[in-house]
Amino acid sequence: MALTAPDAVVVGAGPNGLAAAITLARGGLSVRVYEAASTPGGGCRTAELTGPGYLHDVCSTVQALAVVSPFFRTLDLEALGVRLRRPEIAYAHPLDGGRAGVLHADVDATAAALDDAHPGDGRAWSRLVGPLVRHHEQLWPEVLGSLRRVPRHPLTLARFGLPGLVPVRALASRFGSEEARGLLAGAGAHAMRRLEAPLTSAFALALIVAAHVADWPVVEGGSGVLVDAMVTELTRLGGEVVCDHPVRSLRDLPPAATTLLDVTPHQLLDIAGDELPPGYARSLRRHDYGPGVFKIDYALSGPVPWTNPDCRKAGTLHLGGTLSELARSESDVEAGRHPDAPYVLLVQGSVVDPSRAPAGHHTLWAYCHVPNGSDRDMTREIERQIERFAPGFGDLVLQRATRTAAGYHRYNENYVGGAINGGLASAFGAVLGPVARWSRYATPLDGVYLCSAATPPGGGVHGMSGYLAASEALRARHRSGR
Ligand SMILES: Cc1cc2nc3c(=O)[nH]c(=O)nc-3n(C[C@H](O)[C@H](O)[C@H](O)COP(=O)(O)OP(=O)(O)OC[C@H]3O[C@@H](n4cnc5c(N)ncnc54)[C@H](O)[C@@H]3O)c2cc1C
Repeated sequence: MALTAPDAVVVGAGPNGLAAAITLARGGLSVRVYEAASTPGGGCRTAELTGPGYLHDVCSTVQALAVVSPFFRTLDLEALGVRLRRPEIAYAHPLDGGRAGVLHADVDATAAALDDAHPGDGRAWSRLVGPLVRHHEQLWPEVLGSLRRVPRHPLTLARFGLPGLVPVRALASRFGSEEARGLLAGAGAHAMRRLEAPLTSAFALALIVAAHVADWPVVEGGSGVLVDAMVTELTRLGGEVVCDHPVRSLRDLPPAATTLLDVTPHQLLDIAGDELPPGYARSLRRHDYGPGVFKIDYALSGPVPWTNPDCRKAGTLHLGGTLSELARSESDVEAGRHPDAPYVLLVQGSVVDPSRAPAGHHTLWAYCHVPNGSDRDMTREIERQIERFAPGFGDLVLQRATRTAAGYHRYNENYVGGAINGGLASAFGAVLGPVARWSRYATPLDGVYLCSAATPPGGGVHGMSGYLAASEALRARHRSGR
């Protein structure tokens, strides 16, 4: 049966595509989402990758940004079946000799532990993050919202933005202990840039404030539950999702006045290249995706035997050791080399949410950064880092499921070369979007918008790119009287 044409179509059912669709439907439009894969979710799916009873998040697992996102706060997540599980310790940074930097929800407790490591580090930590944590409600609309309007809370934004402009290596070097340096640099390395790059401190500070106020939680039963909730909300509003429907050209879509694309710049070229002005197409072609990731999901017969006892209670761990070791790893990746001793981002999903593994067993999620497009298996390098801080880990491994950066591209077209955030994090991109134009979301094609993580505010499961793009599309429809 032929479907009737909706008011708006969205291509891609990732978190941003679904946030866009919900926003458009709330604006009174009929909306249809077309998704290439056989299930919605994009980078927010859960699967039994290693065997029955072991639930693994294929991509995103820590949902700190969803908790603080102004878009997600418009959803009644609990009523939609989402239960957040908070770890006892948000994240930890193990060091040789059984030491570790530990981020507790409480700023004072974190500061006290840092003072023990090096007198003065605690006070410096409190001064840097304390005011941001106290005023975090003012921070999120500024940082995750439109950075181009006049800020409503200039003082809070300045407290964030001034240290945020500094490369995280320089900011971390102001602290005396490797514990404090590790807490900062480990969070800053999420930016997937060398630690000497500007803006890496902004990444670190945003994630550290989210860790203090929201504990870096996971979703009970897996991240896919969050997507189920978004689809339920969209359906309640009259929208629909059509899966197994890759869109290769705008001509594949029903005629709709508004089209939002949850895709990245190179895919926009594939879908609409022949219709785009040459200058705009050239800018899309130049889009820099940055490094990719290599990831391992484990089924384990027991909990990881971290030497440091606090690490056993942490949801997330950053492995790699000292600040200079982390800096070397991230510089290697940016220079196109595979690091021998990589920075590893590791999440103990089943420590936080026991429903993810059979009783007594565990799941573990770990990735490292690699050059874009890499098909190299980094299992040996990652496991050397885990064994360094948790000797005997290898004896617990029942199963591994691995995916290279090239494999991530095959899994999801948006992960070009295995880049997970739609593009290299930069101050330019955060403010202007993938192409420097007045609108950060509208393309030169009438009624066609980009809404993926390649547009501001960038990567992560916060839905804000979709929400902001859809809000702009609704305003344009209103202005044109549609
Ligand atoms: C390994 C990994 C770990 C991550 N960890 C975290 C984390 O812990 N926390 C966090 O906040 N973020 C994390 N992220 C990042 C997060 O997953 C992404 O930033 C987020 O999913 C971006 O959402 P999106 O909607 O823009 O794109 P996506 O989630 O990539 O969704 C895009 C969707 O569009 C579909 N699509 C693309 N092209 C077409 C087409 N032509 N036709 C039809 N459909 C199409 C794709 O199939 C996909 O479903 C991680 C990502 C990866 C890969």
